[in-house]
Amino acid sequence: MQLSKYARSAKFSAIRKMFNESQKVEDKVSFAFGEPDFDTPLPIIERACKEWRNHKTHYTANKGIPELRRAVAKYHADSTMPHDPDENICITNGGSDGIRVALAAILDPGDEVITTTPCWSNYFSQVAMYGASVVEVPTFEENGFRPTATDIEAAITPKTKCIMINYPCNPTGAIMNEECAKELARIIDTNDIYLLADEVYSNFVYDGNKHVSVIDYVQDKSKCIYLNSFSKMFAMTGWRLAYVIANKDIIAAMNNIIECGPSCFPEPTQLAGVTALEECTDAIQEMKESYDRRRKLICDLLKDVPLITCRVPQGAFYAFVNIKALGVDDMDFCMDLLYKAGVVMVPGSGFGDAGKGFIRISYATSDENIIEGVRRLKKYIEENYVK
Ligand code: PLP
Repeated sequence: MQLSKYARSAKFSAIRKMFNESQKVEDKVSFAFGEPDFDTPLPIIERACKEWRNHKTHYTANKGIPELRRAVAKYHADSTMPHDPDENICITNGGSDGIRVALAAILDPGDEVITTTPCWSNYFSQVAMYGASVVEVPTFEENGFRPTATDIEAAITPKTKCIMINYPCNPTGAIMNEECAKELARIIDTNDIYLLADEVYSNFVYDGNKHVSVIDYVQDKSKCIYLNSFSKMFAMTGWRLAYVIANKDIIAAMNNIIECGPSCFPEPTQLAGVTALEECTDAIQEMKESYDRRRKLICDLLKDVPLITCRVPQGAFYAFVNIKALGVDDMDFCMDLLYKAGVVMVPGSGFGDAGKGFIRISYATSDENIIEGVRRLKKYIEENYVK
């Protein structure tokens, strides 16, 4: 008996691959996971513990408890998207599942989803799950890893159902700008296509830049699907809490799709999410300042490493390093670096073809790790590539 076509074709994430491989190496410095190294702020934890003790241990509404949907609506009070807590907001089991369920609401087999690449590797399998396919639109370092309207328009076919974008971007650290946002919005408004904007890193934009959301420039908001997650915002990766804002038909469909999967989410977790949004937004600023400092630290250190280059990333917490001058396959490079130098980095090709010749470094780790990791990287390149 055969497994499903999907199971046979799903791509395994390069991030997980490097992580699993790195378990075989004892003395290592890891830059693999895009995970805040902060603890979840204490008031959030205390609220959850209190609610478990209050016996908030029952089934809840599929699309999330009203208190959390109302808190999300309040947090997005200035949003240009309609954000009625009953009609337009759906709580999800983390951002990853938010994407999966939102795609389930709009995709049919044979549909195409345009994705700018390099992109978060999970997108490939999440789209394939519904018998749809990803059409990669490559973005380039020279353009700040933002797409051109010409490239996006050239990728549109009668099968295109959705354009999926992620700015600030994992893995490139690129941010959106107004000029590109206007062009993308025009494309959405003049075609029968949804926009799925994954904005889970929107709080982490540096150098005085403001987060630019393409959604703000789209006139027909019913075509827009907005995703945000508590994972990166409040260092809550293990809690599995996120939300989608979209038109009422999409949210109603997501509600029903959740019923077929997890059915609903724990009430204490969701009430802790209310505390996060209402009482803990100062923590976001503190984390942002810390990532910014580490971003500068790693970029300064990387300048001294021969043969590689890194444009200063302006968002999220990733540095996307160009290793093309080494003339080596990026996956081979990462594997050899792991075993010879004990440094875990993720090959850029794991984020789509446009990532070939790059490596992703997540700098959401300690200063000591950054200093030691880059020291090892430098030594490794000097010993293996510098003639
Ligand atoms: N979107 C992007 C671009 C990500 O990098 C991640 C996680 O790394 C997610 C969504 C999903 O995060 P979570 O499922 O923890 O909310």
